[in-house]
Amino acid sequence: MRLEDYDLSRRYDAEVLDSRRISAAEAKDEVRDIQFEVDGRFDVQVGQNIGVLAPGRQEIGQDHHFRLYSIADVPQRTDDGKLRLSICVRRCYYIDEFSGERYPGIASNYLCDLKPGDKLTVTGPYGQAFPIPAENDATLIMIGAGTGIAPFRAFMKHFYQQRPDFQGRIWLFHGGDTGLDLLYRNREVDDFALYYDRETFEAFNALSERPGWSETTDWAAAMHARGEELERWLSEPHTYVYVAGLERIIDELDLVLAEVAGSNRIWFRWKDDLKAEGRWVELVY
Ligand SMILES: Cc1cc2nc3c(=O)[nH]c(=O)nc-3n(C[C@H](O)[C@H](O)[C@H](O)COP(=O)(O)OP(=O)(O)OC[C@H]3O[C@@H](n4cnc5c(N)ncnc54)[C@H](O)[C@@H]3O)c2cc1C
Repeated sequence: MRLEDYDLSRRYDAEVLDSRRISAAEAKDEVRDIQFEVDGRFDVQVGQNIGVLAPGRQEIGQDHHFRLYSIADVPQRTDDGKLRLSICVRRCYYIDEFSGERYPGIASNYLCDLKPGDKLTVTGPYGQAFPIPAENDATLIMIGAGTGIAPFRAFMKHFYQQRPDFQGRIWLFHGGDTGLDLLYRNREVDDFALYYDRETFEAFNALSERPGWSETTDWAAAMHARGEELERWLSEPHTYVYVAGLERIIDELDLVLAEVAGSNRIWFRWKDDLKAEGRWVELVY
């Protein structure tokens, strides 16, 4: 769906509570976790996105720039009814293809520059909440690269804090250029450390084969190491797969999972079945 086709009629006031850098200091990109409180009429669930209206340049008739961001924490209702939530934003730049000049991305720079107490306008929510398996013995395979990790941080919190009877397995495949780029899981910020001693949780890193040279994450190395188990679990009816991040992750995963499955034909049929049963969910952009 194109950005201009989204419904922006539901707009809510929000106030920034906190903004912290979550990419390691030496990482090449700045990524921030931004927490804010939204007007009490707003509601959103894990797996959904919110819209942000970054101010436009009024002098050339631009009202705002609308962009989408995934929820990076379980939304909390405050005592006065407001909704507290966080998003994870990469400060983006793009290269103009004609001039070759580097420009700051408008909305991500606007968000990353916000300070506690600043006001903003959010819209939405958009998209489907992640389907939450009813089975307490479900296997959850979460695959996220870059800012795609954000919804999984929230999703895991949901399972471990709000589903005490959940005994299933959670596998997190986490992609990044280098270990420094693993958001929420680097040397300085590791929000997943809470779960490492749980027998049911395992996290696997998928890093770039040639950091700085290639943008491609080496999913193959991470997944082939667990190929047999992965194949077995994908065949089980209680396994759910969630994929989030930049769109190219889908092609990269199809290549690897076709090898795990034995052929393209087998994999794509399998994936169609998983999708039809609501057990393969994508949040890609
Ligand atoms: C459903 C959905 C969910 C999204 N969730 C998030 C999220 O949780 N966190 C987040 O940071 N962004 C997310 N995005 C991307 C976000 O909406 C903006 O496109 C991004 O912040 C760039 O906007 P901008 O105005 O700063 O730059 P623009 O001027 O629009 O573009 C800047 C450049 O950055 C590239 N780019 C866009 N997003 C990313 C990214 N995340 N990582 C690396 N390069 C990127 C673009 O391809 C473009 O070349 C999501 C997009 C969609 C459609």
